[in-house]
Amino acid sequence: GGDPYSDLSKGVLRFRTVEDVLTPLEDCFMLDASAVLDFGVLASIMQSGHTRIPVYEEERSNIVDMLYLKDLAFVDPEDCTPLSTITRFYNHPLHFVFNDTKLDAVLEEFKRGKSHLAIVQKVNNEGEGDPFYEVLGLVTLEDVIEEIIRSE
Ligand code: ATP
Ligand code: ATP
Repeated sequence: GGDPYSDLSKGVLRFRTVEDVLTPLEDCFMLDASAVLDFGVLASIMQSGHTRIPVYEEERSNIVDMLYLKDLAFVDPEDCTPLSTITRFYNHPLHFVFNDTKLDAVLEEFKRGKSHLAIVQKVNNEGEGDPFYEVLGLVTLEDVIEEIIRSE
């Protein structure tokens, strides 16, 4: 069609998956749900340079919330506000995609939805026990766009 964006995406994006471009969990800047928003934690958030920060409980693979940088607008470091107070107030939805989702499909998802970040999970059925969802990392619109640019 006449939409150059969709023509471009028909190229590489059909053949590559979310797993090819994600940011691995171990490289993600995240916060423990029990964190307190004191000066040190706020400074580390600012230093991370990221706009959306996953919040986990107990272990990093257990993401339970998302903190947006703009949620911190009224947070005073002096107050040592519990992170959970903020995440409970904003209660941003989490978006998940499977590791084998093609990039054109995830781009459509990002265009349609409100969020431009998704948590990547895979069905792990290796081993003896029941299959379980394993979190691999994060993917954002930026990761998909980078793939388009890289392919040109
Ligand atoms: P901004 O929203 O200011 O553009 P950002 O880093 O928050 O910056 P993106 O631009 O969407 O968000 O992503 C840039 C890169 O950073 C991507 O590779 C993305 O996977 C990665 N990324 C996004 N959020 C995090 C995070 N919390 N920790 C580590 N990497 C992240
Ligand atoms: P977010 O950063 O949370 O994704 P945003 O509105 O700040 O939201 P974009 O998602 O990049 O930023 O932009 C969404 C739309 O809002 C775009 O059409 C953009 O041009 C417009 N926009 C961004 N900032 C402003 C602003 N300060 N005033 C008016 N329109 C804006």
